[in-house]
Amino acid sequence: MSKCLADRSIDHVVLERGEVANSWRTERWDSLRLLTPNWQSRLPGFGYEGDDPDGFRNMAETIVFIERYARVISAPVETYTRVTSLRENDGGFLVSTDRGDWQSRTVVLATGACNIPSIPKVAEKLAEDIVTLTPPVYRNPGQLPDGGVLVVGASASGTQLAYEIHRSGRPVTISVGEHIRAPRVYRGRDIEWWMDVAGVHDERYDEVDDIKRARQVPSLQLTGSDNRITLDLNLLTSMGVKLVGRLAGFSDGKAQFSGSLRNKCALSDLKMNRLLTTIDEWATENGLDGEHEPPHRLPPTEVEESPPLFLDLKATGIRSVIWATGFHPDYSWLEVPVLDRKGLIRHEGGVVAHPGLYLMGMQFLRRRKSALIDGAGDDARDLSDHLVAYLNGEIARAV
Ligand SMILES: Cc1cc2nc3c(=O)[nH]c(=O)nc-3n(C[C@H](O)[C@H](O)[C@H](O)COP(=O)(O)OP(=O)(O)OC[C@H]3O[C@@H](n4cnc5c(N)ncnc54)[C@H](O)[C@@H]3O)c2cc1C
Repeated sequence: MSKCLADRSIDHVVLERGEVANSWRTERWDSLRLLTPNWQSRLPGFGYEGDDPDGFRNMAETIVFIERYARVISAPVETYTRVTSLRENDGGFLVSTDRGDWQSRTVVLATGACNIPSIPKVAEKLAEDIVTLTPPVYRNPGQLPDGGVLVVGASASGTQLAYEIHRSGRPVTISVGEHIRAPRVYRGRDIEWWMDVAGVHDERYDEVDDIKRARQVPSLQLTGSDNRITLDLNLLTSMGVKLVGRLAGFSDGKAQFSGSLRNKCALSDLKMNRLLTTIDEWATENGLDGEHEPPHRLPPTEVEESPPLFLDLKATGIRSVIWATGFHPDYSWLEVPVLDRKGLIRHEGGVVAHPGLYLMGMQFLRRRKSALIDGAGDDARDLSDHLVAYLNGEIARAV
């Protein structure tokens, strides 16, 4: 957004509570690599220039990438400046920080979608001697006691952590709710390449049938690694990870799981196959069939006939629980009345329901790719155009 505002000669400042790339520095585990290939972090006027476009950045490389971008575009970043409140003032906004106040006619909220881990309420019933961690504070298996681990959630974070922790010698059980399976490589190309060329990532918020639902869809079960493994439940099962259904509660030292595991996995296979069919149809329409391997499908997710509905934590040696159950944004500092009943910002494609206020970086904000690094550029171009029109008085009300 800073680059787009500078291109449009809009005077601005970027307030950051930590350093540039703060979330990548402070909220990610040691072994994490981006699940998007190197080529797929395209920012306005900036992209990957190395010799491994299909590789996956580790955290150090991701931080350097974003730092370099901030330098190249001369982004006016004020680091170590935490916004403590934002309120309406004089037809604009008063932005209070721990380093003084700013007055501004417009504000872009780009504080991230993943500030606070969403932990289910049932966690309160967990025995106190069980160690619990969330992905932003998890660094490596060495933080965990010896013994079994229950990973709750089977999207990208949950499956990656289950894989790493099981390989550390701690038996892992993974509790599986809604998730979306995807092959890392399809017909010889990365799945992200297919989703990019076939326009899946560009699908707009005003083109989908149910945008509320689309904004809640979990991340694809993908991981970035040198050998391009498909990290799905079948791989975890083959390693010895145990699958159980969605966590329903804890009672008398036992974890209780819903009986929906088989259905959830069947639904996930169905959605994956639907995505692959979209890709196949696009390849045929565009005459690419001859250039790529023929269409194929993965074997269905294997689930035992009657997965357990209870697990006695002590008897099965489970000593820690990882909550890989998603995130929500933190708007505790936002004093402009724009939150809905769920505490999310009311907006239309990033144009917030309050004149002069804009939102970035949320799931399916304007496009399917909006919450990816690769999605920021197109959204920032659109929203900065709107912002300029607003400043010029061409749009009286922002919605
Ligand atoms: C575990 C994980 C893995 C991911 N992997 C990928 C991937 O492989 N590829 C990909 O494209 N995307 C990935 N993402 C999504 C990724 O987070 C986004 O693509 C990207 O970080 C969004 O950038 P952002 O600037 O909108 O949000 P963030 O990176 O969250 O940045 C928000 C910034 O706002 C600052 N901030 C927050 N509150 C305040 C305040 N009150 N005052 C001042 N500053 C504040 C924060 O310090 C932070 O630096 C991943 C996300 C997670 C959680």
